[in-house]
Amino acid sequence: MSEEKFDVIVVGGGLAGLTAAYELANAGYETLVVERGDYCGAKNMTGGRLYGHSLEKVIPNFAEEAPIERKIVKENIALLNEKGGVQIAYTSPQLGEGSNASYSVLRGKFDQWLAGKAEEAGAMMVTGIRVDKLIEQDGKVVGIDAGGEEMYADVVILADGVNSLLAQQIGMKKEIEPHEVAVGAKEVFKLSEEIINERFGVANGEGAAILCAGDPTDGNLGGGFIYTNKDTVSVGIVTTLSDIGRSQLSVPKMVERFHNHPMVEPYIKGGELVEYSGHLVTEAGWSMIPELYRDGVLVTGDAAAFVINLGYTVRGMDFAIESGRLAAEAVKRAKAVDDYSADTLSYYKKLLEESFVFRDMKKFSAFPAILEEHMIFNELPAFVGDVFNRMMVVNSEPSGDLVVGIANDFCKRFTMAGIADFVGKLMEVR
Ligand SMILES: Cc1cc2nc3c(=O)[nH]c(=O)nc-3n(C[C@H](O)[C@H](O)[C@H](O)COP(=O)(O)OP(=O)(O)OC[C@H]3O[C@@H](n4cnc5c(N)ncnc54)[C@H](O)[C@@H]3O)c2cc1C
Repeated sequence: MSEEKFDVIVVGGGLAGLTAAYELANAGYETLVVERGDYCGAKNMTGGRLYGHSLEKVIPNFAEEAPIERKIVKENIALLNEKGGVQIAYTSPQLGEGSNASYSVLRGKFDQWLAGKAEEAGAMMVTGIRVDKLIEQDGKVVGIDAGGEEMYADVVILADGVNSLLAQQIGMKKEIEPHEVAVGAKEVFKLSEEIINERFGVANGEGAAILCAGDPTDGNLGGGFIYTNKDTVSVGIVTTLSDIGRSQLSVPKMVERFHNHPMVEPYIKGGELVEYSGHLVTEAGWSMIPELYRDGVLVTGDAAAFVINLGYTVRGMDFAIESGRLAAEAVKRAKAVDDYSADTLSYYKKLLEESFVFRDMKKFSAFPAILEEHMIFNELPAFVGDVFNRMMVVNSEPSGDLVVGIANDFCKRFTMAGIADFVGKLMEVR
């Protein structure tokens, strides 16, 4: 059994871990990243759109060299019922400007690129090895045990994702409950760049996002997403774990139903299915944040539950990158005074409190309660679809009075108490 000592060990080569490693290696610290996948990104998943602002701070103009797929310049929201849907498109030059820009990414490529940057900066990368446990001495984390090999460090950064077993092992995080997580499943279809441009109405290098509520999850909490990549299209759903069983449809069937939906199918028609993946997604947000620091250890990214899941869209990658960066800042400060106690490492939490991570997580802390309103996923898309049917379908059948018909539909589907409850919850998101 060999023993090695590093300045910092990072567990997990996702965006949080790799950002922390890049920053620390750049500052000259001996940094080891241990990733259980065969390569960084092998096990990671996103819908996915990366909001660029946080990586921009770490690697300015990263989009010029990183393997981004397309810059998103067209945003669409769609409410789907069984046969159709109402889609609202938004385009604006502001969407792609400077740090407002967001990009579609495929994690297999993107994380490998970031791992390469961390390695160039001097970080040591070990892949294909799972960290089994943390080594503690006198209540302080001092290293890791990976497959029987022990490695030591002044600080261990946990960036091991949503189900951080390591944080659970030492009692920093409690076991996840079904209502706290959703499950995401995604298919990637290959199409030519030209076909994608034509179908989504974008130019080379430009992309579209379509975020859908309603039919994709058969009324379950969650939604569907479509993102254009360079020469592929990502199509998937996210649905809360506690709702599985509520619908007759299994998650794979939901994905199938979504890609066969009359509004979705034309986008991917003729495409070859080249990838299928599934992953857990943090859902309970703010209320799920674990202990973030202890003697010799910090928790970042999904492991720290830094995710906002709005059902139809998930945001976690910019939080992962920012929390990795801030963890690195806290470690640099601890190094400067050669003190890795919880007291010194608490600087990490202070930085988070001052950052957009805590600001935005707090702001959306009431959102999980709103998501529990099945109305958004059932009655609303169905009602909106019916309104458009009444307005748009012209034939020789009697159509009745438009306004009275809409009012009747509305009353059949919604109660005043339900609406008041929903508005009340909305008002809590300030
Ligand atoms: C379906 C879906 C859609 C999403 N869509 C979006 C989106 O569009 N935009 C967005 O911003 N976010 C999105 N997210 C969320 C986003 O993907 C995550 O927030 C982000 O990946 C978190 O990064 P991370 O580095 O913290 O964790 P991860 O990317 O999960 O990385 C954790 C790493 O740790 C490794 N690991 C775990 N345990 C061990 C161990 N014991 N030893 C060694 N290695 C270990 C894993 O293999 C993995 O590489 C989505 C998530 C899902 C599932």
